[in-house]
Amino acid sequence: MRIKESISLKKLNTFGIDVKARYFCEVETIEDLQTLVSSEIFHNNSHLILGEGANILFTKNFDGLVIKPVFKGIEVVRETDDEIFIKAYSGEVWPNFVMYCCEKNWNGLENLAYIPSSVGASPIQNIGAYGVEIKDVLDSLEAFNLETQTIEIFQNSDCKFDYRESVFKHEYKGKYVIFSVIFRLSKIPKFNTDYATVNDELKRLIVSELSSKAIATAITNIRKSKLPDPSQIGSAGSFFKNPTVSDEVFQSLKMQYPNIVAYPTAFGVKLAAGWLIEQSGWKGFREGDAGVHAQQALVLVNYGNATGGEILNLAQRIIDSVKSKFDMELTPEVNII
Ligand SMILES: Cc1cc2nc3c(=O)[nH]c(=O)nc-3n(C[C@H](O)[C@H](O)[C@H](O)COP(=O)(O)OP(=O)(O)OC[C@H]3O[C@@H](n4cnc5c(N)ncnc54)[C@H](O)[C@@H]3O)c2cc1C
Repeated sequence: MRIKESISLKKLNTFGIDVKARYFCEVETIEDLQTLVSSEIFHNNSHLILGEGANILFTKNFDGLVIKPVFKGIEVVRETDDEIFIKAYSGEVWPNFVMYCCEKNWNGLENLAYIPSSVGASPIQNIGAYGVEIKDVLDSLEAFNLETQTIEIFQNSDCKFDYRESVFKHEYKGKYVIFSVIFRLSKIPKFNTDYATVNDELKRLIVSELSSKAIATAITNIRKSKLPDPSQIGSAGSFFKNPTVSDEVFQSLKMQYPNIVAYPTAFGVKLAAGWLIEQSGWKGFREGDAGVHAQQALVLVNYGNATGGEILNLAQRIIDSVKSKFDMELTPEVNII
């Protein structure tokens, strides 16, 4: 384990923002983490845990210690006739892990294919796509408490999962390093293919037998066609959360905007933030290298050399504009540092 100084983070965040970390350290083992936490550099500096950098907007150099967990490994923990419990360590790359499980016909993760993430960050904002969220498949996780230097186990219910939320995003922010996650997967095929686009892509691929691998492949293809590839155009995926409103508010918006895009949920009606942003005239907007993706207005992009400040400024202008048109407050999904 080596603590490096003045390290560029440009290639370590999918927005491609050109900032530096004062200190940077990869940790491969719990012993590494214990050594790091006992160091003066850890004690005298603020710290940030970094996965694949796919949900972070850096607005300035990070004047502290960036800790990058690179714990590796995938293990079967236990299994029954119907289920299998798989432990993956936090430094595993999410899309590879999903495909690994699909290849083995361990079902449950296929709808979350190709989300840029580390395994360790996947519970932080309860990643979700195509009708599935981590909370549906997570059994438990192990996290290293940076204060007590011990490993603690969190069951699914301890994580307080919600839409793009967990306990680690708020009350325990920065207090734990997620070490490993156990997923409860099904050996029996039971798939969620409610999305028309997924069915269309499966038809296009001429899939004879539905499998988690076929669904993951279809979803990967759709995502590749719809979202910017971070190696070409910087982004952190959806920049804002979809706001949830009461049925009453929704009905009054629907009177004014009959084409409003929204989805009913158990807790109210979720409005498509991308639609609100598009209707406010931002889709395809570009100023310098900061912009709004031409195909998906929810995605803010860096065309090359935008600064985090420029992206943040654009985000604020969008928030103000949606507020003034719809009286609706958008909140960022991305972690702003
Ligand atoms: C093109 C694109 C598409 C996307 N699509 C989706 C999508 O469909 N659904 C979705 O939910 N998200 C999506 N995202 C957002 C992103 O993929 C997820 O938020 C992902 O989980 C981020 O993982 P990461 O490893 O990059 O975390 P980072 O961005 O590095 O970190 C995110 C947060 O987690 C913390 N963290 C990271 N690792 C650990 C750890 N081991 N222990 C404790 N804290 C940790 C960080 O401190 C930070 O607060 C997309 C992003 C991009 C770029």
